[in-house]
Amino acid sequence: MNTLQNKVAVITGANSGIGLATAKLYLKEGAKVVLAGRRKEALEEVAKDLDGEFITVVADVAKPSDNIDLIQKAKNTYGNIDILFLNAGVAPPTPTTDITEAHYDEIFNINVKGPILTTKEALPHINDGGTILFTSSIVNQKGFDGLGVYSASKGALRSFARVLTSEVKSRGIRVNSIAPGPINTPIYGKMGLPEDVVEEMGKGFAQQVPLGRFGTSEEVAKTALFLASDAASYINGIELEVDGGLSQI
Ligand code: NAP
Repeated sequence: MNTLQNKVAVITGANSGIGLATAKLYLKEGAKVVLAGRRKEALEEVAKDLDGEFITVVADVAKPSDNIDLIQKAKNTYGNIDILFLNAGVAPPTPTTDITEAHYDEIFNINVKGPILTTKEALPHINDGGTILFTSSIVNQKGFDGLGVYSASKGALRSFARVLTSEVKSRGIRVNSIAPGPINTPIYGKMGLPEDVVEEMGKGFAQQVPLGRFGTSEEVAKTALFLASDAASYINGIELEVDGGLSQI
């Protein structure tokens, strides 16, 4: 119940799916949590059901000034940060033949520029011995049609995490990535696809997973707890798949 007692955690994309499940688990484990999201009303809604010490901050990760504001608010409220979880992301699919500049910019601004610039802002305010976590994806290892730009964005994030692991080594800060497989979150409803197409896509994914099903946000949250905790004190620079084995076959 107190794995993260008095630790300060900042989580982006915290109003939904993996980020929200992690915020709930961190709070349960005694952390002080800064939940960041781009939609005020969504943050207000989830805040109603949360217990523990937390604040919500409206911040669009694609906007550098919002990232500065997020880190300042976290620092002003709770002091230095122990756990920075860069989790916000989008995954709109488009076949390569239909890629537009707007599609590319949306995905890269949110999935790459956002976490990189937030990390830059946060670094001076992260305690030595702290932890930085990224949500990447198993799309770094497998090719799924229509997810070209999304996969490229997660690959970029993975590469960035390797360099960061080295750059912060003198401060004892551990940097790790979580690579979810298909996880049952609202992200699939935000892809701009008709419901029946999403359903079919889901069935297809589930069939490919050795465990035969989608994962849950809570299963990914447990991994985010493990990697942020002392139980993972010698785990650094890795990407940990939470995918029922999909990436391994
Ligand atoms: P989700 O429920 O849609 O959560 C994504 C979160 O990111 C939401 O809170 C979303 O806010 C937020 N977000 C998106 N754009 C943002 C922006 N510009 N500024 C701030 N917040 C923003 O989906 P999820 O599945 O939990 O996704 C979390 C992470 O897991 C993502 O990085 C995703 O790529 C990764 N992932 C998911 C899966 C999967 O199968 N679910 C698999 C591999 C990787 P809104 O609610 O306003 O959209």
